[in-house]
Amino acid sequence: MAMDSDTPTPAKSTTLGSVAYFDGTSSRRRMVTLRLADRLEIDEDEQTLAAWAYADIRRADSPAGMLRLSCLTAPALARLELRDKELANELVSRCTNIDDHMIGRRGVAAIVGWSLAAAVSIVAVVLFGLPLAADRLTPLVPEAFERRLGDVADSQVKTMFDAKVCDNAAGQKAFTKLMTALRESAGLDTSVQSGVLSSSVPNAFALPGGKVYLFNGLLTKAENADEIAGVLAHELGHLKHRDSMRAMIHNGGTSFLIGLLFGDITGSSALIFGSRTLVTSSHSREAENDADSFAIDVMHRLGRPAKPTGELLLRVTGKEGKGLSIISTHPLSEDRLARMSRQDPPASGPPLLTSEEWRSLKSICDGKS
Ligand SMILES: [Zn+2]
Repeated sequence: MAMDSDTPTPAKSTTLGSVAYFDGTSSRRRMVTLRLADRLEIDEDEQTLAAWAYADIRRADSPAGMLRLSCLTAPALARLELRDKELANELVSRCTNIDDHMIGRRGVAAIVGWSLAAAVSIVAVVLFGLPLAADRLTPLVPEAFERRLGDVADSQVKTMFDAKVCDNAAGQKAFTKLMTALRESAGLDTSVQSGVLSSSVPNAFALPGGKVYLFNGLLTKAENADEIAGVLAHELGHLKHRDSMRAMIHNGGTSFLIGLLFGDITGSSALIFGSRTLVTSSHSREAENDADSFAIDVMHRLGRPAKPTGELLLRVTGKEGKGLSIISTHPLSEDRLARMSRQDPPASGPPLLTSEEWRSLKSICDGKS
């Protein structure tokens, strides 16, 4: 058979089974074949799962003897793991920007400064254990780092709970009005991001990088805007005190810290664990108390009572008992309710939402499964 001169040379591929691929949305490890065509094609059983442009491929932190790669245009946690040296060399030679730092040149100076401080603080991990280290490290984490972490945690949480952002127009308008009032009362700037997610789990939580989410499951159990407002104010308190960043360092453990040190923020599987525990485990009792105090102040400055929030939490506890709920994140004790009720002045400010706006907010997830 004569070869047409225009026929490209057959794409080089490895034997099936020598390259592992993580698509970045599930934790499943797939064995794939790589085709070094005009882009890097990642194939599984004759099917192309993804194609990465060589210029977008970056080297990720990896153990010796393995080349681990990420791609700027792929999901943040997508990874390829190669152990075949020849293939690795061949691939690296095509990836012109493979060692460009993921965060860009501007971030490098910040990282260097932070890494020195962090390297010193790592000693704290060894000597004093993680909780203290988390406290010491949290103030040192640059905001840009935290925002990137938050973006990853954000997509992880949405995947984990199969949750979509609820945003029907009237509901979103009411939610924005409520959040704006709370945010201004809390003295936080407009960088705060918030939303309602379509999960039936009765919970609300803050993520690193200034994000606050309310699950529809809690919204459906609420009877008025004050109940929900206090919960959101409590989460703004966690956000202001960077409690989620602290929890992430704490729960992510040493491997997370080391990943952070070497700049492969998103590469550590500890982060997946970290974002899971952000939603399901509790902050320290002290952090909870501080967030409560913060919420009470925010509500009182708006001329609204804090007690309804305590009542909402009690109602959810009574019905849900233990398990995955706001209660496991925010253990409700008698003293918490008592604190919210104590010296709670009667409402002196206008309602945060009109009854029509409240109804719209309650149905913000209508049409989402
Ligand atoms: Zn809390």
